[in-house]
Amino acid sequence: MFARATFTDPGVYPRAPESEDEENDLRQPLYRNIEIKGITVKMKWCETCRFYRPPRCSHCSVCNNCVEVFDHHCPWVDNCIGKKNYRYFFFFVTSLSLHILTVIAFTILFVVKKKGEGEGMVQILPAIIILAIAGLASFPVLGLSIFHIGLVALGRTTNEQVTGKFGSGHNPFDLGCYQNCCTALFGPLPPRYLGYKMPKRKKKKKGSPYGGDEETVHNGEPLHTQHIRIEMEPIAAGGDSISDTKVNLFFTNI
Ligand SMILES: [Zn+2]
Ligand SMILES: [Zn+2]
Repeated sequence: MFARATFTDPGVYPRAPESEDEENDLRQPLYRNIEIKGITVKMKWCETCRFYRPPRCSHCSVCNNCVEVFDHHCPWVDNCIGKKNYRYFFFFVTSLSLHILTVIAFTILFVVKKKGEGEGMVQILPAIIILAIAGLASFPVLGLSIFHIGLVALGRTTNEQVTGKFGSGHNPFDLGCYQNCCTALFGPLPPRYLGYKMPKRKKKKKGSPYGGDEETVHNGEPLHTQHIRIEMEPIAAGGDSISDTKVNLFFTNI
């Protein structure tokens, strides 16, 4: 699990190709709003990756990439934790917690047994040292496990929790405890985005407010040629449809 958390792509979005019209990029509004389940979610323009970050995406300052459903950058596994490797990170941390608890339990049993047999302190000293190390390690690891179990149940990421994104309102990505757990830990994973080549961005034509591509207007805003559709579907059998949470994300191609 540690190796998979380290070497699995967390869900890095490829950067958009450089625009021929650099000035145009600078004129992008910083935020665009979309509505998910009646809740307005802001999409911020990423200057490095040159697109509006999809909901739940964040730019990792360590990896210098935008990551889908960004949780955090973990220095211990030396990788970002995102949509595609979160489950491996979660199972790594929880299995490590179980391992520590098992070591503590069996070491205590060993010490009690040896004491009962009348063994001296020298014979049980190694077990005491192991117990002390395991006891010290158990606090952060168990704390992290409990924290992430809570996050999975609530359908949140560490990033959303620490920034208080949905602190005051409803989390539009909360599907209910059961669905949240199934989706985060056992749901299907999207294909790898890296390697996808985006079409070259064209220079804006004079006389056209939205650029050289064929214009299509939706709710008074142009839809551009490049778009990504993210569909949130429940993966557990018998789940309710949440098709109203379908989100169309339009990568600007202005
Ligand atoms: Zn970015
Ligand atoms: Zn990172």
